[in-house]
This record gives sequence, C-alpha cells and structure tokens, in this order.
Amino acid sequence: MTRIRKASTREARQRLLGRNVSIAYNDPVKIVRGEMQYLYDDDGRRYLDAYNNVAHVGHCHPKVVGAGQQQMAVLNSNTRYLSDLIIRYAERLTATLPASLRVCFFVNSGSEANELAIRLARAHTKAREMIVLDHAYHGNTTTLIDLSPYKHDGPGGDGPPSWVHKVPLPDLYRGPYRAADPHAAEKYAQHVADSCRERLCGFIAESLPSVAGQIVLPDGYLEKVYNAVRTAGGVCIADEVQTGYGRLGTHFWGFEKYGVVPDIVVLGKPIGNGHPIGAVITSSEIAESFDNGMEFFSTFGGNNVSCAIGLKVLEVVQEEKLQSHALQVGEHLLEGLRGLKEKHEIIGDVRGSGLFVGAELVRNRDTLEPAGLEADRIVNRMREEGVLLGTDGPFHNVIKIRPPMPFSEADADLLLATLGRILSTDYAD
Ligand code: PMP
Repeated sequence: MTRIRKASTREARQRLLGRNVSIAYNDPVKIVRGEMQYLYDDDGRRYLDAYNNVAHVGHCHPKVVGAGQQQMAVLNSNTRYLSDLIIRYAERLTATLPASLRVCFFVNSGSEANELAIRLARAHTKAREMIVLDHAYHGNTTTLIDLSPYKHDGPGGDGPPSWVHKVPLPDLYRGPYRAADPHAAEKYAQHVADSCRERLCGFIAESLPSVAGQIVLPDGYLEKVYNAVRTAGGVCIADEVQTGYGRLGTHFWGFEKYGVVPDIVVLGKPIGNGHPIGAVITSSEIAESFDNGMEFFSTFGGNNVSCAIGLKVLEVVQEEKLQSHALQVGEHLLEGLRGLKEKHEIIGDVRGSGLFVGAELVRNRDTLEPAGLEADRIVNRMREEGVLLGTDGPFHNVIKIRPPMPFSEADADLLLATLGRILSTDYAD
C-alpha cells in the first residue's frame, strides 16, 4: 500500500471530519500500531503512551485480540437470543462488585451507559432533579451535556437546564475549602445536602473526578453525600468510566476507596480495552422499577464479540494482577513527581492513586495562578520527546497521567526523566 504522508492525512481530516472533533498536540501524531504501553507512528517511532486509559490491559493485548478474532469467526448476534457468554461475563463482572449490585445492562459507550443510568434513576424515583459536581464530564449526548458543567459551562455551551444543580468540586488544593481545613469534607457535602430538594432524582459523580483535574475526593465526603441524597429520596450514581478496573491500585472500583456503595455503577472505556463496550450495573430494586413495560434493547450492546472481549479483558486484569502492579508503579511515579515538585516551583500539587495521577501546574504557589499555557507547552514538548500525556482540569493546567496498566517502573522513570529535563531547561526557577 502506498504510504500516505502525515500532512495529507491532516488535510483530508480537516476536509472530511468535523473541525471540532478532538485531536491532540500542536503537531498531531499519526499512530499506525500499538503494542501494550507503546504506540508507533508512521515513521516507526515509538512513543510511551502515558495517557490512554482505554487500552487498559495494553494496546492490542494478544489474549484480547485472540478472544475477539475467535468469537467473530463463530457468531456475533444480539441479546435477543440466549447466550452463555453474556451470562459468564455478567457473573464475573458482578462478582467484583458489592452484593447489592447484581443486575447488568450492556451498551456500547460510556455515554450510552450514563444515559441509561439516568433513565434507571428516573424510572425508580419518578423524579428529574439531578445534582452534579462542578467541572464534571459524563458524556457527549444531549442529556449528558446538560449534566456536564465541563461542557455546558464551557465554549459553545448554553449553561445547565433547570433540573441540573451544580455543587462545588471538592478540590482540596484550589477549591473553596482546602486541605488545611479539617471540616472541608463536611462543608463540601453540605452543598449537596443544601441542593437536595423535592423530586430529587439523584447525584452523579466520578469516584475520582478526572476531567475536572484528577481530583481525589476528601475522606468522608461521599458517605455524607450519599446519606443526604438517599434521605431526600434520590439515587447515587458512580461514574466509574475512568476510575474502575483496578487502575487506582488500592481498590478495584473508585467508590470502594471511600467505603460507599452506589445504587448504580456506570462502566466504559477500559472494560473493552478499545472495543466499544459500556455497562450499567444496579440493584434488583432499581432494575425492577425500570422494567415498567417498555422493553430495553441496544442492537450492539452485549453482542457475542463484545462479551468475549469484555470477559477476556477482565480475566487478564485479574490473571496479570494489574491492580497490585498499578499500586506499585503508581507509588513509584507519585514519589518521583513529588521529587520534581521539590525542585520545580511550577508543580503546585501532585495527586492521585495507582495509575491515575495528576500534576497541577501553577505560576505562583500562593495565588495558585494556573499555568495552563505552560502545561500545554510541556505536554507538547513531552510528545516531541516521545512521551504521550494530556492536560485537564477547569484551567487545563493539570498534567494527566493514566497509562495502559502494563506501564512499568522503567516507563515511569523515562517519563520522570523526560519531564525533569524539560522543566529544567524550559522552566528553570
Ligand atoms: N464518563 C466519563 C467520566 C468519561 O470520562 C467519559 C469519556 N471521556 C464518558 C463518561 C463518556 O464515555 P464515551 O466517550 O465512551 O461515550
């Protein structure tokens, strides 16, 4: 096949795809192949992928590829027929969750899963009012843009509709109540209690808000929030699209970090390792309320190939002990980043758990003036040096590190050395 140069691909993309379809880096990368935590461009150059949490067990993991190929050659149909594969997958998946969460619905994306979660919550509570965290992102559909301050309060957004109530992001670094305040968790939770109103449908949050800047929630916050929401008759939805499947190292699911049990859990990204799978898992009571006479059908959700792939991804996470690996490598990475923070004023905060990590950049450690431009420049420099990262947070000043889980200590050392070099040359204090 004749090779198409990167510049022509870029020009064709501008012509053929929507201009606002997201693309990374000033000089975009043309990736042609992936292998575990590495990506290769059209020149054969290898990049360390420290950003793509979708390829959870590694890009093109041979066991996952094999499971998909094998099933594709046998049958790919839908949930209208009996299949043991979907049962085995649902059994294995629910076995990782608290006993109250046993009923599964399979869909094709995180957005579709969050949409369904909202339908389940509405069917159960017969109410509509929702509470969301400021700066949250839950998906790209019409309803989810309404529920995502990151989008509806950003460029091109129209603000929230009347049924969406935003509460402050419990950010102990730059939020209204900070780490030094021993009552910060209560104060943040009080905002949720104050937003609970009649006809409350529920509360939705990521267990560690990611788009909002890799935030670790304060201890005790979620428990207080869940109590307040349930007292008001609402249900609690945990968006685990980014945080689940052992990434945090300490726990398999993000909500477990805080000792709470949600009513509805939403899964996406990592569970298909790049194959489009989403899932919603809930209690039998909520599933019963949803079973109101209207059938649920997703043409591709829960198809045989998706189930074979989903099952294999889960098996690989468990067999390869990727959760404990994430804990070990994550500790090493966090320690290294804290070391860089000692040396470089621009790093204001380092936070995270396992392989879910953020480094927040500031121009001034007292005023916390966000260093968004600098973060963008650094991420572009890292890409030039062969390390792929991204930025996030309301001011785009948080360097986000969430690699495929096989990411090793040696990879962490390469990332740290590269970042340290860039900071020393470009941002010497
Ligand atoms: N929830 C969260 C927390 C997400 O990060 C995303 C995607 N970035 C979604 C939902 C939506 O998932 P998808 O893009 O698969 O529709």
